[in-house]
Amino acid sequence: MIDLKEKIRNIPDFPVKGIQFKDITTLLKDREAFKCSIDEITRHCSKYQIDYIAGIEARGFIIGAPVAYQLGIGFLPVRKPEKLPSEVEKISYELEYGENILEIHKDAIDSGDKIMVVDDLLATGGTTAAVFKLIKKLGGKVIGASFIVELAFLNPREKLEGYDIFSLVQYD
Ligand code: AMP
Repeated sequence: MIDLKEKIRNIPDFPVKGIQFKDITTLLKDREAFKCSIDEITRHCSKYQIDYIAGIEARGFIIGAPVAYQLGIGFLPVRKPEKLPSEVEKISYELEYGENILEIHKDAIDSGDKIMVVDDLLATGGTTAAVFKLIKKLGGKVIGASFIVELAFLNPREKLEGYDIFSLVQYD
């Protein structure tokens, strides 16, 4: 497998001082690294009978949509406030830097639908835990979440116990 870690760029002090931002645009621009990332996440997801991939705006769309396409299943956008046009369910939560709100269409999920969440990066796990809550509130069954990058030193898995958490590149 390609060394994906080598394709990720570190930007110190972005968007605020003290944050080491993992920039995946350098990985996305590399056709082999991009394809390998999508294929590996798809391979992992194909172990389950998943009904939908839920992608988190914005980088989760770039990763989640091609995974859903390859699996031949639907894609659910989890979006920032006031972007979705129909009735929404929303959740607010703490980020590594600041606070955030995410929304999903109320009619996006039927009771019992099996869902895998996809995003580019797992940091504290706060975003993913919030999206799990949102999905469960609508009656969905969360299988787990898949990422390109995991900041393992922040111990995100502690917030996500009982779910299948998968990542391609870890920083310890
Ligand atoms: P968290 O809720 O702490 O797991 O944060 C995850 C979300 O914030 C993801 O959508 C990431 O894209 C973004 N994020 C958090 N920390 C970083 C980081 N150090 N580098 C790049 N993106 C980050």
